[in-house]
Amino acid sequence: MKAAVVRAFGEPLVIEERPDPEPGPGQVRVRAEASGLCHTDIHAAHGDWPVRPNPPFVPGHEGVGLVETLGEGVTHLALGQRVAVPWLGKTCGRCEHCLSGWETLCEQQINTGYGCDGAYAEKMLAWADFAQPVPEGISALDAAPLTCAGVTTYKALKVADVRPAQLVAISGVGGLGHLAVQYAKIAGATVAAIDVTDEKLELAAELGADIVIDAREHDPGEVLKRHGGAHAAIALAVNEAAFSAAYSGLRRGGKLVMVALPAHGTIQVPIFDTVLGGISVIGSIVGTRQDLTEVFQLHAAGRTRVIQETRPLASVNESIDEVLRGQIKARIVFDLGEGR
Ligand code: NAD
Ligand code: ZN
Ligand code: ZN
Repeated sequence: MKAAVVRAFGEPLVIEERPDPEPGPGQVRVRAEASGLCHTDIHAAHGDWPVRPNPPFVPGHEGVGLVETLGEGVTHLALGQRVAVPWLGKTCGRCEHCLSGWETLCEQQINTGYGCDGAYAEKMLAWADFAQPVPEGISALDAAPLTCAGVTTYKALKVADVRPAQLVAISGVGGLGHLAVQYAKIAGATVAAIDVTDEKLELAAELGADIVIDAREHDPGEVLKRHGGAHAAIALAVNEAAFSAAYSGLRRGGKLVMVALPAHGTIQVPIFDTVLGGISVIGSIVGTRQDLTEVFQLHAAGRTRVIQETRPLASVNESIDEVLRGQIKARIVFDLGEGR
């Protein structure tokens, strides 16, 4: 099977021919149909974060495909069943976080495409308990972006506790943001979308954003304040200044939900404004299996639109460059299915 491999940080990925991986107990082998390119994969390939993966590794955590081989003890998945393989590859199932509905915080977790080989490959392994069945009616190409971009932003909106009649700012309308706009609308909010390219601002409006803010021309904080200030701002842009701008656009009692992970990112939070304004700054990491179930349910019910464009896996390096240049409308999905 073919896989796109990070051999060294910052180097182009290399397409390698590898033996099909053999599932261990509790695992399945999945024949890939689709694999989304999340900006996290670019951070992984660049070694951007304090905790780094170990090259050589196969990135990718928006994997979707058909179960091909069942490892020992796997009884609840069927051969040929379509599953999604998300970032949350496996957790301990026993710790405080796992037992309290916060498996995303488990300290023993293994992350797909980071702590183990991921979805930039024709075949991949998954722990069966975390391989999420994809409901009928959702294509593999749509399921892929939902598997990280979808679940992550759906969870971020939950964490922000968004209610109807609130103003929610979505900072960055990329792979994550184009779905965040839609979840905020589903929650009933008035949505202000912020980005720095015309195409993404147009897309945000098309997806239901009520206010669009071009951060090249306007200070997003000032615009949000003119609208009374945001009850919540979801920071999805890979840019530190965008975090500060989102913070400055909050109203009293507002929440900044940090999701994007720019390399070595820090922001300065003014203590006085935070205390007097009762502001919350919250980190949000992906979502649980239950969150992903809900994301798939919403999509199957026709309530979300996934904007994706396909590429062959062989174009992985050009695809990464396109994302970094801001040329992709929302999400690239590598098409690994029969028609590739
Ligand atoms: P993306 O590249 O598709 O989208 C980023 C968007 O931000 C683009 O539309 C870009 O035009 C926009 N942008 C850039 N500068 C901006 C600015 N100054 N103001 C407003 N918008 C600006 O990336 P993505 O795949 O959506 O991922 C976004 C970030 O989220 C990455 O850092 C990724 O690692 C992170 N991420 C976090 C989680 C999590 O669980 N916390 C999960 C997935 C991804
Ligand atoms: Zn991701
Ligand atoms: Zn745990």
